[in-house]
Amino acid sequence: MIKMVDELPEDHPRAESLHIRHKIIEGMHKLVVAEAGLIAHGRGEAWDYLIGEHTNPNAINTMKVAVAQMLLAKSPVISVNGNVAILCPNELVEFSKLTNAPLEINLFYGKKGRIEAITETLRKAGAEKILGTVDRKKEKIPELSSNRRHVDPEGIKIADVVMVPLEDGDRTEALIKQGKKVIAIDLNPLNRTSQWADITIVDNIIRALPIMIEICKEFQQKNTERGKLTDIVEQFDNKRNLSNSIEVVINYLGKLSKKGKYLEMKKN
Ligand code: ATP
Repeated sequence: MIKMVDELPEDHPRAESLHIRHKIIEGMHKLVVAEAGLIAHGRGEAWDYLIGEHTNPNAINTMKVAVAQMLLAKSPVISVNGNVAILCPNELVEFSKLTNAPLEINLFYGKKGRIEAITETLRKAGAEKILGTVDRKKEKIPELSSNRRHVDPEGIKIADVVMVPLEDGDRTEALIKQGKKVIAIDLNPLNRTSQWADITIVDNIIRALPIMIEICKEFQQKNTERGKLTDIVEQFDNKRNLSNSIEVVINYLGKLSKKGKYLEMKKN
């Protein structure tokens, strides 16, 4: 039986992780998160352990590229699923406003009431215009057979850049085949989404979005020229980025595997 977070002492060594896990569980009870979202979260947690649960310089560099790509886009859009909506609604709304990229609800598991529950979560966080809601017209992406083929005609359908946090590989592949640029945020550098995307940020979305907001504000405050943003995007190579991300795991595990090191770290 899972202990509820309010039963946990504040100084519990995994308190933060348990708070987040609890948010996801509550999100499932409120219909925002799909049952499969719990499994996806668990996979994310496992990968986060493997990178030491912190953001590395390679991920920060990739975030700069992603923000530059969002600012260069003509019609950017941010695709939202249940896990993302429950984990960081405020940051999603802030990043969407800063980059002029609407939020579009796009789900794999379309249980009755889920779109409404996600819409309410985003509205409470301050979202004004939300695409993909129940009252909106939908069009199909022909390359896809899942629920996610139903997209908003003012959002994913016409977007040139789609940011897809915590995505499934099939849709990333379909979006790429439609000629769109895809930015993924995913802790697992090996899954198909990460491999298919143009820009893959290998980090926890909870840590990544606040950093991306700061990067965006910095670009905007400095009036960074489009030419400079284009250079940042053009110099980027996602294959190299994914190799670097795998090396982060190898190096981290290499350090831990030195005799007794892991136990020493845990004790301190
Ligand atoms: P694919 O179809 O792309 O091979 P998959 O079947 O793993 O991948 P999903 O079930 O949609 O696709 O996966 C969800 C992904 O989200 C997992 O790869 C997991 O690592 C990642 N993930 C979960 N929580 C987080 C988080 N908080 N931040 C970043 N990534 C996360």
